[in-house]
Amino acid sequence: MATTAAVQPHVLVFPLPAQGHVNSMLKLSELLCISDIHVTFLVTGPTHGSLLAHSDVGSRRFGEKFLLEKLPDGIYQDNLHTLDGFMENLNTLETVGRPFLKEYLGGGRRRWPPVTCVITDGALVSLAVDVAEEFKLPTIVCQTISVAAFWCFVCTPDLIQSGELPIKGNEMDLATRVKGMEHFIRLGDLPSFCQVQNLETPIFKALVKEKLQTARARGVIFNAFEELDEPILAQVRTMCPNTYPIGPVHAHLKARLGTNPPSSNSLREEDRSCLSWLENQPEKSVIYVSFGSLAVVTREQLLEICHGLVNSGQRFLWVLRPDLVAGENGGNWAPAELEEGVKARGYIVRWAPQEAVLEHRSVGGFFTHSGWNSTLESIVAGVPMICRPCLGDQNTNSRMVEAVWKIGLDMKGGWDRVTVENMVRDVMEKRKDEFLKRSEEIAKLAGKAVGEGGSSCSNLRRLVDDIRSMAVSPMKTDLLPQMDVC
Ligand code: UDP
Repeated sequence: MATTAAVQPHVLVFPLPAQGHVNSMLKLSELLCISDIHVTFLVTGPTHGSLLAHSDVGSRRFGEKFLLEKLPDGIYQDNLHTLDGFMENLNTLETVGRPFLKEYLGGGRRRWPPVTCVITDGALVSLAVDVAEEFKLPTIVCQTISVAAFWCFVCTPDLIQSGELPIKGNEMDLATRVKGMEHFIRLGDLPSFCQVQNLETPIFKALVKEKLQTARARGVIFNAFEELDEPILAQVRTMCPNTYPIGPVHAHLKARLGTNPPSSNSLREEDRSCLSWLENQPEKSVIYVSFGSLAVVTREQLLEICHGLVNSGQRFLWVLRPDLVAGENGGNWAPAELEEGVKARGYIVRWAPQEAVLEHRSVGGFFTHSGWNSTLESIVAGVPMICRPCLGDQNTNSRMVEAVWKIGLDMKGGWDRVTVENMVRDVMEKRKDEFLKRSEEIAKLAGKAVGEGGSSCSNLRRLVDDIRSMAVSPMKTDLLPQMDVC
C-alpha cells in the first residue's frame, strides 16, 4: 500500500453537450460543490455560451468551488436526434476531446488543485477511463438515462445470442428476455438505438460498448432512486456492485438548498409568461405538452397533436420549439380551423421553465416525449403522463410509466388525433383520480428518498465520502471496490 496524503477533492465532470445530460450533471455538480468538493464542468463552446446566456450558472452560489471550462472548437453537435448526427458527435468528442483531456489532466491547462476524480457521461466512458487511467485517476460514470434503459443496453449481447436482435420485421410487440424485465419489456420498448436490423450499425455498436465499459469505472451514479427501480437496480448490481442512485437530482438539490427556487440549467431562453397564464387556470385543469430539447416531429404529426388537444376540450400549455418540426424553423403552422380552439384554451411558448410549470397547481397532466429528466420532473411533481417516445431511452421510460409505475399511458402505437384526444380525456377526466393517486404515492417516495436519511441522501453521502477518499496523493488503489469487467 502506498503512503498517501489527503488533498483537496476536485472532480472533472464531462457531460455530452445536450440539454438533458448537461442539466442532470450540472445538478450533480452543484450537489458536490455543496459538499465541499471542487468541480470543473467541461462542455463544448456552444454549450458554454448557451449556459452563460440562458442559465443562472454564472450567478449561482457555487462560490469558489465551481469552474465552467470549454473544450476546443470542432465538436459536432447539430442534429443529435439523428443516428448519424449522434455518431458524429461521439466521433468528434473522441478526436477533439481525447487530446484536450490528456493535456488537462496532465496539468497543461490547470488553474486549480489537481483533478482527483473524473465523472464522465455514460456515453463517453472509454475515452474518460482510458485517459484517467494514464494519470492514475479514478473514474465514476454518471448515467443520465434511466436504470431500465441502461440495463436493456447491457443485456443486448444476450438478446443477440437468443436471436431477438437484430429485429427481423414487425416484431415490436414480442416480449424480450432482458433479465429481470421479461414480464413487461417488448422489443418495441428497447431504447431506439438497440432496435437495429443490422448489428453493424455504428451508433448501436458504440453505445452498447460504452454501457458495457461502465464496469471499468469505480462506480456508477444514476439519476434515480432505490424505491423506484429496486428490482432493476438489483440486476445492475450484479455487473456494477458500486452504484449510487442519488436522484431525482433536481429534487435532491432543492431539498439541500431549502426553500430556494430551482436553479436554471437551461440552454435556451425560458418564456416565464406561461407561469402567469397558469395562475389564471383552475387547479389541475391544464395539460402541459413538451417534447424536450431534441425530439422532432413531422408537420402531419404536429397537426394530429393539435387536433387532438383542441378536440379534447382541455386547457393546454404547449412548448413549440422553433426546431420541433424537422427541416423547418418556426413559421405559421396552425390551420385556420384550429386557431379558435388554440386561442380559447391553449397557451404556446417556445421554451418553458419546465420544473416550475410541472409544480404549478394548475397542471394536471404532462404529454411528454418521455425524456428521462422530464419523466423524473413529472414524478416529483406528482403529475400523471401521456407518453409519446421519440428516441433513445424514451421507449423504455414510457413503458415503465404505464406498465410498472402505472402513472400514465404509453402512446407508442401512433399519434393520430383520435388517440391524442382519447388519452388526454383519460388522464385529465376519466381516469384522473386513479392516475393522480398513484402519481402522488410515487412523488412521496421520491421526496422521502432525497430527504434527510432517505436512500438517495445516504447514497450521495457515500459518493461524497468515496470521492474524498480518492483525493489522496499518490493514488491509493485499494480503497474502493473494483467491479468485474464484462
Ligand atoms: N426543458 C425545459 N423547458 C422546456 C422543455 C424542456 O426547461 O420547454 C427541460 C426539462 O425540464 C428537462 C430537459 O429540458 O430537464 C429535457 O431533458 P429530457 O431528458 O427530458 O429530454 P431531452 O431534451 O434530453 O430529450
